[in-house]
Amino acid sequence: MIIAVDGPTAAGKGTIARAVAEHFRLPYLDTGLLYRAVGRQVEIMGGDPDNPFDARSACSFPEGLLDNPVLRTEAVGGLASRVSVHPQVREALMARQRDFAHQAGGAVLDGRDIGTVIVPDADVKLFVTASAAARVQRRFSEMRARGVPIDREDIAADIAKRDARDSERANAPLMAASDAIRIDTTLLSSEEAIATAIASINMHRRAAK
Ligand code: C5P
Repeated sequence: MIIAVDGPTAAGKGTIARAVAEHFRLPYLDTGLLYRAVGRQVEIMGGDPDNPFDARSACSFPEGLLDNPVLRTEAVGGLASRVSVHPQVREALMARQRDFAHQAGGAVLDGRDIGTVIVPDADVKLFVTASAAARVQRRFSEMRARGVPIDREDIAADIAKRDARDSERANAPLMAASDAIRIDTTLLSSEEAIATAIASINMHRRAAK
């Protein structure tokens, strides 16, 4: 079974995707991490994330970079969003994501274009959203818990900028597939969001039989 989980920043798709993968005992790929590695690698190489050639060269980042905690920072998230607009970068990362999805037994992948571009034939597609205010609040609490000194206004501005860039880019914009199950996590705890996702997947599988 291939499960695609898409949605904007801080809506809870990572939490849902990881839990769903564990529940159905499927391997999990956080595709945002690949774009983050490219963003970070451009920086290491002294390149310009807005230049398609520099960004494309950074796609051959060393594998060890994927384990570097710096990839989780907001700064690298911003770089990832900039390199991800280039079709050359999306193309370079495509085979890796498709191979992961089509491994024996299936997989769970989360990102922005999994259900629309990477695996349009996924068995189940989830599109996870939440209000902008809820997403800012969650990211703020998460950063505070990690001891990162940050302003709520800065997070709001950063999320708005990333949303705009991810939704308005010409190539593979953030968009729900027409056959995606939408889950709005605004009023849900993470336990409730996970339970909703698992119940929706089970219902979808029963209906597909
Ligand atoms: O999901 P995450 O915040 O880690 O993703 C970082 C950035 O990478 C996103 O803002 C988006 O621009 C890009 N991305 C993408 N396609 C994906 C996953 C991430 O364009 N499948």
